[in-house]
Amino acid sequence: MMKKSEAVINRLKRLIQLAGSGEKLEPLIFAQFNELLTKVPLLYFILCTNSLALAYTHYGIAPDYLTIYVAGFLSVACILRAFKWHTFKQKTFSLEQAKHQIKMTVLFSIIMGIGFSLWCFVLYDYGDVSLRAHIAYFMSVTVIGIIVCLIHLPAAVWSTTLTVGIPFVLFFSASGEPIFVAIAINFTMVAGVLVLITLSYYRAFSNVVIAKQDLVVQHAQTQRLNVQNELLANQDGLTKLANRRSFANYLSQKLNELSHTSSFIVGLIDLDGFKPVNDIHGHAAGDRVLMEVSQRLTKALNDDCMLARIGGDEFAIVIDHSASHNEVEAFGKKITQILGQPFIMRTGLVQISGSCGFAIYPEAGDTVDALMERADFALYQAKSEARGSTVIFTAEHERLIRQKSKLELALNQSVKNKELSLHYQPIVNGQTEQLLGLEALARWDNPELGHISPTEFIAVAEKTGMVTEITLGLFEQAVCDLKLWPEHLYLSFNLSVHDVISHKTLLELKRIVDFHGIPSKRIQFEITETTMMSDLDLCSATTKKLQAQGFMIALDDFGSGYSSLSYIHKLAFDNLKIDSSFVANLLHDQRSQGVVKTILELCISFNVSCTVEGVETQEQKDLLLTLGCNNMQGYYFYRPAPIEQFDLSENVKLFD
Ligand code: C2E
Ligand code: CA
Ligand code: CA
Repeated sequence: MMKKSEAVINRLKRLIQLAGSGEKLEPLIFAQFNELLTKVPLLYFILCTNSLALAYTHYGIAPDYLTIYVAGFLSVACILRAFKWHTFKQKTFSLEQAKHQIKMTVLFSIIMGIGFSLWCFVLYDYGDVSLRAHIAYFMSVTVIGIIVCLIHLPAAVWSTTLTVGIPFVLFFSASGEPIFVAIAINFTMVAGVLVLITLSYYRAFSNVVIAKQDLVVQHAQTQRLNVQNELLANQDGLTKLANRRSFANYLSQKLNELSHTSSFIVGLIDLDGFKPVNDIHGHAAGDRVLMEVSQRLTKALNDDCMLARIGGDEFAIVIDHSASHNEVEAFGKKITQILGQPFIMRTGLVQISGSCGFAIYPEAGDTVDALMERADFALYQAKSEARGSTVIFTAEHERLIRQKSKLELALNQSVKNKELSLHYQPIVNGQTEQLLGLEALARWDNPELGHISPTEFIAVAEKTGMVTEITLGLFEQAVCDLKLWPEHLYLSFNLSVHDVISHKTLLELKRIVDFHGIPSKRIQFEITETTMMSDLDLCSATTKKLQAQGFMIALDDFGSGYSSLSYIHKLAFDNLKIDSSFVANLLHDQRSQGVVKTILELCISFNVSCTVEGVETQEQKDLLLTLGCNNMQGYYFYRPAPIEQFDLSENVKLFD
């Protein structure tokens, strides 16, 4: 029983409750309040006018206290409420205040309803049928008017219906007068329908308000996301510097705004030796180095400079004023000096350096692409000069670019025109001078450009993606040559970084060897230390795979790159080739001797063989022998030459 009555009360509550809850209630209350601001004064105006009309028709018939004092009192109450609501239009209301006024409106609808109903019922006793009909007309029409005015406040609609509508129906039904009973029935029908319409209107109203509010929230969210996206799209997540896109935008905006007389400088900074930091110290340490690099650079730059991180370990700057070549050079030196300071990591000290390439507007170019390309070219030159160099793009570089594109075109034709060939340079036992193997070295003679060094054209081929075709062509040629050599001689073949990281190329190399029926153990692949360092994990996995297939691996040019002995244990190789730069200084430089000795000891402890490259004189050879080095290669023994110039059957004879 109790539960049933509770359920009815809850249903009633729900009927008069506001749709929406929590944060959604707030906009609904304000919307309701705004509607009431115009409707409540109107409602009291109707009530006041109608009741004065009723008082007027009863004046002189009913006692004065009813037609003057009670009517006056009720009218003044109506005017005061109407005026109060009218003044609300000028004020701003908090949520709580608005709620309070809405509650007060409901309360007043009850008080006024009871007041007016009682007044009407007392007046009923004093008039004839027409005056009673006026009362019935007044009550029914006024209730309907009020319901319409309070359409945005269901609680007040209900309270008016309960305090005026129901007593009205009961009172006139009980009068026994058929006309009044008919009016009561008419009223019940009309008011009932009106209440239902009011409620469904209110639901629709609250849904619109909530939907509007949802739209406002969604709009705010979209706006927030847009700002976040904008930030993400233009900012480097790690260093919070501008990213490549934002840098290019800045540059392009700058070029659009510039007058023709102003000048500025675009600089690119690339870290040398950063990759091994990631590989050896881990990515977290790498990230910390990048953060510190960005802090050091930011500190070193003036306010008129813009700094961005445009790639993994590549930074870019715009220096927003003109400067002489000397000044730019000095600036580059300052940057490289800052980056050369060691970085203190938990895993130890990290030493890197930075190379800089600069392009000056308008000499170097007048578009974003041209300036970036020229700065990049200068950077490339700087990196190939030495670690930590600075190069400014000049007219000479422009000439080199043209020559390079000529070279690219010619290289494209070289394979088809069979311009590439192989020379071989023996690797010997220094003591006995007996041949151990031969290193294949690529040669390119072009009718127009003449002889081009492999260092130069292999780099071009790597850039243009031709290197795979060149490697495979030359390797097939080398394997064909090897078939004619005595069994104890091996072929040493250089692989470029692109070959090492390409699974397809490696499969193809193995296919060639198998096709010619050559045992893999007669082939050694030379991979430079720099290649290895470009992706330590991938390259060491590759070399392990090649070793598993029976090939030998030589770590080429050891000591020329990031000679860090700490990573060497991570690499899989059979032979270490000490870079010729150590031999060049060997006789006069105690340090070079020390380094060679240390490397030899390292090779013994790793159980790998060691070859010294670039042996040019007897003195060098003798000294190397005393240091304990056996395998050698260099002009002292043999210069690279076409295979026909070696009589391998007689074991080593050079015909020139
Ligand atoms: P590398 O592999 O270190 O080859 C040794 C280079 O030193 C060769 O230069 C050789 O001619 C030169 N050399 C040998 N003995 C001496 C000496 O006693 N004194 C001096 N000063 N130099 C000596 P080359 O032939 O110009 O090759 C340069 C580089 O080009 C090679 O260095 C190698 O990295 C690359 N390369 C050559 N052929 C190929 C190839 O077929 N594929 C790939 N990927 N790279 C190649
Ligand atoms: Ca080599
Ligand atoms: Ca070498």
